[in-house]
Amino acid sequence: MVDYELIVGLEVHVQLNTQTKLFCGCSTLFGQDPNTATCPVCLGHPGALPVLNEEAIRLAVVTGLALNGSIPPVTRWDRKNYFYPDLPKGYQISQLDHPVVGGGYLDLPAAEGQEPRRIRLTRAHLEEDAGKSLHDETSGTGDSRIDLNRAGTPLLEIVSEPDLRSAAEAKQYLSELKLLLEHLQVSDCNMEQGSLRVDANVNLHVMVDGERVATPIVEIKNLNSFRAVERALEYESQRQLAAFLADGKRIGQVPKQTRGWDDAAQITRVQREKEESADYRYFPDPDLVPIQLAADWVESLRARMSHRPAEIRQRLAGDLGLSDYDAGVLVAMGPACIAYFEQAIAAGGDAKRVSNWLQQDITRSASELGVTLDQFPVPPAVLGELVARIGAGEFTTAQGKDLFQHLLSQGGSVGEAAEAIGIEAVDESALDELCQQLIAAHPQVVDDIRGGKAQAVGAMIGAARKIDRNADPGKVRARLLELIQST
Ligand SMILES: [Zn+2]
Repeated sequence: MVDYELIVGLEVHVQLNTQTKLFCGCSTLFGQDPNTATCPVCLGHPGALPVLNEEAIRLAVVTGLALNGSIPPVTRWDRKNYFYPDLPKGYQISQLDHPVVGGGYLDLPAAEGQEPRRIRLTRAHLEEDAGKSLHDETSGTGDSRIDLNRAGTPLLEIVSEPDLRSAAEAKQYLSELKLLLEHLQVSDCNMEQGSLRVDANVNLHVMVDGERVATPIVEIKNLNSFRAVERALEYESQRQLAAFLADGKRIGQVPKQTRGWDDAAQITRVQREKEESADYRYFPDPDLVPIQLAADWVESLRARMSHRPAEIRQRLAGDLGLSDYDAGVLVAMGPACIAYFEQAIAAGGDAKRVSNWLQQDITRSASELGVTLDQFPVPPAVLGELVARIGAGEFTTAQGKDLFQHLLSQGGSVGEAAEAIGIEAVDESALDELCQQLIAAHPQVVDDIRGGKAQAVGAMIGAARKIDRNADPGKVRARLLELIQST
């Protein structure tokens, strides 16, 4: 039995939600025909000059603030030089010494019975993406083609300190980071389309004769799903441990490596010896001036901090009285869900009831219709009104469900739906009048109920049926208890 600890730091490359590329006006829309979203700037033609996309800076600063980082007054561009067929300029515009965000941290919500974990961040910097090589493995010719539509797309690389201690914790960090980026609406985080890519730096601290010995750090590339990150870290910790033990518990024999994750084989493979930054011959980009970020402009972006998942969970659980569980589920459903929820509440819906509708009927219907919540056919204000009127006893729960189905297929207002399917809202004034009459006639029963014997209300239900034989016993009971216990 060998005692060891897994040490992981992650580099997350996030495609920012801009309409156009980082230094030119080409569209960043996914799925265009190959090499149609290109121009002399992103193709690296001689003499073409880059022009900075201000929106990319704004999204990077919003993210940095949300990650508790510092935003320096000046940020600068550097050229990272390397050769690769999908990099037409021969260099990538990136940031070496003066990144747009310094430091920061991300708190991971505490799991049941655990302490919350704070993962420190090193930095976040902006860079442009490269193109994409397409290897044709079907024709048998072994052709490779290059699509440069992606070249020049703005990426924010968020680098963590080596603070993660397990594959599960790395996955939790990524989930929380993804949720943050989605709620801030700085990225769509679509991993299948490559909007969020992960590299992991991994090694082990092994206890040898009472001392911690660190194995060489391996960088794993090409992690395109959370599952791949988890599996690659599990695989790599076992591989490094076996290599360390096979080598007689010595270090220094294994060079630093870059390994790629092979998702089909579920293993990592050596790609190359890991480069140091000196290998890239970084130097300041002579075509781009340093950017000065005005302090009041940076401060104005702090308003978006209320969109952080932690703040939303707190608002939902603290101010609106949802359980921590419900608040967590709604936040995990994304920003469109929170917007829907808040608008339905504003229209009078009770928070807990709206939360139940969202988690059940609305989620199911949206999935059946194949729409997202911002396209959902029943607008949040209409649902809020429906929920409020069910809560007030105007409609039974079953009638509410019928009305919802009608609204879903036909649209319109709650009133129109009720009329169309022949449901009449209960006249609350008649119910109130009946209950007041009963309370006046049964002072002893009222005293018993106030004394804690709620079941005594049964005596008045019988009396109610004598006054109005159509009275709904359930509603009379509920309204009586409400009136007696509220006075
Ligand atoms: Zn372009």
